[in-house]
Amino acid sequence: MTNVQNILTKYWGYTSFKPMQEEIIASVLDGKDTVALLPTGGGKSLCFQVPALAMEGICIVISPLVALMGDQINTLKERGIKALKLTGGISFDELNTLLDNALYGNYKFLYLSPERLQQEIVQNYIKQMNVNLIAVDEAHCISQWGNDFRPAYKNITLLRDIHPLVPIIALTATATPEVLEDTISELRMELPTVFKNSFVRENLSYQVFKEDDKLYRTEQLLKNNSGSAIVYVRNRKSTIEISDQLNSLGISATFYHGGISTKEKAQKLESWRNERVSTMVATNAFGMGIDHPNVRFVIHLQIPESLESYFQEAGRAGRDGEYASAVLLYNEYDKMNVKQQFVESLPTTSDLKKIYRTLNNYFQIPYGEGEFTKHNFSFSEFCKTYSLNTLLAYNALNSLDRLGIIQLSQEFGRKSTVQFLISSEQVLSYFEKDITVSVIGKTILRIYGGIFEMPTAINLDLIASKTGQSIETIISVLKKLEHDHVVEMMLQITDATLTFLVPREDEKTINVISRDVEALNRKKTAQVNSVLHYIENNKTCRSLQLVSYFGETTASKCGICSVCKTPSSNLSSKEMKHLAKQILALLEGDDLSSREISEKLTFAETNVLKAIHLLMDAEKIKINPKNQYYLN
Ligand code: ADP
Ligand code: MG
Repeated sequence: MTNVQNILTKYWGYTSFKPMQEEIIASVLDGKDTVALLPTGGGKSLCFQVPALAMEGICIVISPLVALMGDQINTLKERGIKALKLTGGISFDELNTLLDNALYGNYKFLYLSPERLQQEIVQNYIKQMNVNLIAVDEAHCISQWGNDFRPAYKNITLLRDIHPLVPIIALTATATPEVLEDTISELRMELPTVFKNSFVRENLSYQVFKEDDKLYRTEQLLKNNSGSAIVYVRNRKSTIEISDQLNSLGISATFYHGGISTKEKAQKLESWRNERVSTMVATNAFGMGIDHPNVRFVIHLQIPESLESYFQEAGRAGRDGEYASAVLLYNEYDKMNVKQQFVESLPTTSDLKKIYRTLNNYFQIPYGEGEFTKHNFSFSEFCKTYSLNTLLAYNALNSLDRLGIIQLSQEFGRKSTVQFLISSEQVLSYFEKDITVSVIGKTILRIYGGIFEMPTAINLDLIASKTGQSIETIISVLKKLEHDHVVEMMLQITDATLTFLVPREDEKTINVISRDVEALNRKKTAQVNSVLHYIENNKTCRSLQLVSYFGETTASKCGICSVCKTPSSNLSSKEMKHLAKQILALLEGDDLSSREISEKLTFAETNVLKAIHLLMDAEKIKINPKNQYYLN
């Protein structure tokens, strides 16, 4: 292990390991499949980076997000470690060069998205590499029971086939036992050693408040904030609105959601990280892997859909170990809303049957066919054609995607933008080279006035109908223009592409998955209920509630959450008597600890403790060696 210690100091300048890191690294070096289950900020990256540096060869890292890879590669490079990444949007030539480098250039880390693994050329190169470790970051993405399910994560098992002897390390902060179990089996890990650190965050104060004027409360919280903050909202529009409102209140803010360009995302992230902008108002697209130490507040203005995602999002506060607050603001309407959005609109098996049949009719797929056919798909048009409830249809399509019946690419409803980069004379002479390019190019110039000045949203359908060319042709022309630096574009096929993964068999197709559908629905419902329970339970320490949800039963009260800090109201002697009676009634059933008693009652914990003392003094109850109270 001295070697490992040297690596830590030499490359990172750290003097000691964080909890569990050393054990995890030792397990990897022993060649064992290993699971590192550490909370956000627990230092998971080092758990594969250090052992990979200690061994000959290259470590393959699977990571779900481009931004995440970029960050990690940059930090590695800063430390003089050779690392490269394969993300989307690189040309075949570039891909070849990068893979050549990875193979012959003494690189230590190759980061790639799970989608990249699907490409044969990537697999062929990896076959030839001297791989020392396979690291799967955010490994829970492979489980369809988790919140971040990414079907492409299933490709990872390919690596197991290519290099059967290389150990896998799975890294995640998602601790629910069933997701963990599923992750391990989906990754085909062999008797992995699981390392789990406590999920207690001692410096983080969890607070929940019922609040009708959430903006005012947010302003109060943030106006004296000297560090950074994240405000989570549910939809893209709210990110913009709230960030505008905060700015007008003198709190510097910007917004972030899945629909803005990669470039803009990077800029926004950068200005927030540099603390030029203090507050990021975001959807849950802002998340995984955000490593900014000085976040003092994470504020939720809407109720999250599960405690798993809440814990992760809240956990982005206080990564430097200093005091920080995770505040959830809600009102009665939000409670209703979260149920409507996440529970009542869950598609049943019969909803799925209907949508699936409609979808097949829409694309005119004959019975028994359709497998692996790919179609351009406009979600809004689909809903309009059949007058479907969009929320239900959306959820149904997502379920079909999750359950492997169809595959949807891209997010719904984004727009492509184009901007011309060279002068109009240059453009026209460029067009002379190719008649198709000319027709399409000129049409675009005619329809869109300001396209030389700024990125302009274009409508591919409109261009197609004006030129009589297919969407594919238009896209390939645009790609050529981009390649020749005539335009800069952000291409988002207006909605999505949809691939059927199984042949059409209507009822039968869905019957096969009906058990999974129901299980998924039950799971979603339970998750939302857990969140509502968390919000409503204002007598048990917030931190305790959260970590016990993740299976941790030994933690003690945090002392800093909104429950622990609420001063107990002084009960009148009548109320005290009433409370004492309830305790006696409880103890008739069973011997209970003070915590168990408190959990079963609606009174503040301090009052419960007071009542217990009174009952002890009056010798109505006694305590046994297991710290349980019983009737005397
Ligand atoms: P996770 O992936 O678990 O959320 P990261 O790997 O991003 O966490 O690490 C979080 C932060 O902790 C990073 O800034 C990292 O450099 C730092 N860190 C990791 N290990 C150590 C250590 N042994 N000593 C000090 N800082 C560490
Ligand atoms: Mg990480």
